[in-house]
Amino acid sequence: MTLPILTLDEHVLGPRLGYVFQRKWLQPYESMVGMLWKFAHMNRLPGLLVVSQLSGRLIDPYEGIVPADIDVKRVARLLGIPRHIVGESLCHAANDTSKFLRFCPCCVSSAYHSRLFQLERLARCPIHGEALRDVCRHCGRQAAYRLDAMLLDAPFRCKHCRSWYSPLGYAPQAFDRCLAPKARAALTRAAIG
Ligand SMILES: [Zn+2]
Ligand SMILES: [Zn+2]
Repeated sequence: MTLPILTLDEHVLGPRLGYVFQRKWLQPYESMVGMLWKFAHMNRLPGLLVVSQLSGRLIDPYEGIVPADIDVKRVARLLGIPRHIVGESLCHAANDTSKFLRFCPCCVSSAYHSRLFQLERLARCPIHGEALRDVCRHCGRQAAYRLDAMLLDAPFRCKHCRSWYSPLGYAPQAFDRCLAPKARAALTRAAIG
């Protein structure tokens, strides 16, 4: 039996195929990890499939890629958002970014991950004042800041043991809740440094 030959475009996910990503889910300084966690979670997509959409070249899904290496045009099409928003989520300009995923337990419970959390000069979440963490409270392991199948398979959770990063779990309906003006101002101050 011969298999039909698929063109590359037939493997490309996107709004055309009914996958949803809404701009109102985006918060200021949202990271690429945060955006893709929301996309994977809301569309019930396996991490393996999401990773395959991030670049035109073949990616080993378990090795993944660093956010700075994604194909911005492709990911903008996948999420149905402008390229500049994708570009801003990557934090490739800073040279003091952590190799490990850093998170604030309060923010992660409202499904928010900021690219600013990756800045090593920031010890605390600018919004909540909580110490930023890079270890799972259950298994004590770190997750590399790479977009790989395991990370994208466990939105808002540890990719190793799949426990929630926040003791509160998280609330998907909070995707639509905008950050308060005070929180936005705190993030902007932190971004300026
Ligand atoms: Zn926070
Ligand atoms: Zn864990």
